Order: sequence, then C-alpha cells, then structure tokens
Amino acid sequence: MSLKNRLFVPMGADGVYARTQTYVHVLDQLEKFITHQRAAQAEVLRFPPVMSRAQLEKSGYLNSFPNLLGCACALHGSELEVRLMADRYASGEDWTEGLAATDLVLTPAACYPVYPIIADRGTMPVGGLQFDIEADCFRREPSSNLDRLQSFRMREFVRIGSEPEIMEFREAWMLRAPQLADQLGLPHSMDIANDPFFGRAGQMMAVSQRQQSLKFELLIPYTPDAKPTACMSFNYHRDHFGVTWNINTANDGPAHTSCVAFGMDRLTVALFSIHGPDPDHWPGAVKAHLAL
Ligand code: AMP
Ligand code: ZN
Repeated sequence: MSLKNRLFVPMGADGVYARTQTYVHVLDQLEKFITHQRAAQAEVLRFPPVMSRAQLEKSGYLNSFPNLLGCACALHGSELEVRLMADRYASGEDWTEGLAATDLVLTPAACYPVYPIIADRGTMPVGGLQFDIEADCFRREPSSNLDRLQSFRMREFVRIGSEPEIMEFREAWMLRAPQLADQLGLPHSMDIANDPFFGRAGQMMAVSQRQQSLKFELLIPYTPDAKPTACMSFNYHRDHFGVTWNINTANDGPAHTSCVAFGMDRLTVALFSIHGPDPDHWPGAVKAHLAL
C-alpha cells in the first residue's frame, strides 16, 4: 500500500482527504508535543474552518492572495427562487448560477481571526499577549502531492506586543524549532522565505518581505533527494495588524505581531515519510518524544 493510501482516503478532490486512524493517532500525539512547548500565559483558542469575510477583507488578504481564497456561497431568495435554482441540478442545468457570496470565507490561515478579537478588548496589558490557536485552513491550490493540500490544519503560537517583545519571541522560536525537529528525528534547514503573493505587484511584495527578513521557514526534505517542504513558518507582520485593527500596546503605540505556524499535516506526513509507514518501528527516541 502506498504511503498516501495508508494516511489518507480520497474524497473526490485533489488535496481534500479523510485522515486514517494511523495518521490521526500520530497527529494527536504531535498536537500534545506542541502543547508542551506552549508558554504558560498563552490563551488557547480553536477556530472553525470559516471566518468573517469582512474581517478577512479588512486584513488585506485580497491584495496579497486573491487566487487562494475560498468564499462560502449559498442560494438566496424566496422559497420558489431557491427551489427553481436547486432543481436545475436534476434537469442537468447549472444550478450554481444561483449562488451568491455569503458573509463567510474559508479561513486561509489560523491567525486572521485573532486580531479583531484582541482589538475588541481594548488596550493590551503591559507585556503583551500570547495565543495558542488552530484552524482547519483552506487554500485553493489543488495538487495531488502529499505536501500540498487544499484543506489542512494549521496550529500557531501568536505574540502581540511591542516591537522588542515580538523580535525576542520570533528569535527564540527560530532557535527552538530546529531543536524540536531534532527531537522528532526530522532533517531540517532554516531559510529566509516569502509568501506566494499574487501577480506582478506580488513579486514586489515578495522582494520587500525578503529584504526586511519578515518570513523564515523550517524546511524538511520528505526523502533525501526531495525538494524540502516548508513545515513551519516564522512570520513578523511588523505593525500591519496593529494598525489595521487599532490594537495598541500599553505604552508603545500600535502593536507589532508575530506568529509561529506549525503545518500540522506537513509535519505528520514528514514523520511518516522519514520514519516509515508503521509508527511501531520508528526510532525509540522519536516514539518517546511523541509518547507513541
Ligand atoms: P504560511 O502561512 O504559508 O506560512 O503557512 C503556514 C504553514 O502551513 C506552512 O509552514 C506549512 O507548513 C503549512 N501549509 C501552507 N500551505 C499548505 C498546504 N497547501 N498544504 C499543507 N500545509 C500547508
Ligand atoms: Zn499567522
């Protein structure tokens, strides 16, 4: 049986899979491993796979990644109008013409919903805030590769505070993440990175992001000769979300923010690719760290 079939069950669309028991067991243990790394003061929030469209629009997502966004649509109108549109399916016509956007989009990254929540709470406490968040994310990038899903789980530690607090948080995590990869027996390298900003204007945004060293990634090769896959990212947003949402620190003006993102599916697939299909046969140290 191929590794893909051992981990995933197809659901009729590339990059959209049911997870098997073998996979979920390792994923759950990896979640606990990451929970052990969480700061004691971090607030835990778990987000659904949809979020407010207005909030995502305000965050600037349409400037950066309009091609990746999924929007929840629904049939609207009177009972008769909805019935007529839905019945088009049975008669072989295009029922989707009746769809219109709702106020929801599919969450494209776990941390977007957290900033408006903080903004609603008013001025932040001295020392800023930390969060442990997670969401099932959607990005419209169909692929049959195991490391590029359309629906995938992203866990993040988010820090909101003054510029020095944010720099310290990200630097500490960039030192710590390779140690965690070592504990899990995963070969890795850390590299500067950019987001896949859309189109020609996006190329300028990517250059600027690199020049300012705003994004780093922990890369893991699934096989010794494979192009390494970004399994964690370390992002510094400067004061983008602080200004956008009017989040202010106790003494230092608009908040700066950073997030450390764990690609939970990419990390889980990496564990199986590198250590083999059967967790019982994984190296003892790896099994011990994951309590497998
Ligand atoms: P990003 O916001 O692009 O830095 O994504 C955060 C993390 O989510 C990345 O480091 C990846 O591990 C993971 N990720 C991003 N895109 C995908 C995808 N299409 N499939 C699976 N995991 C992904
Ligand atoms: Zn984030």
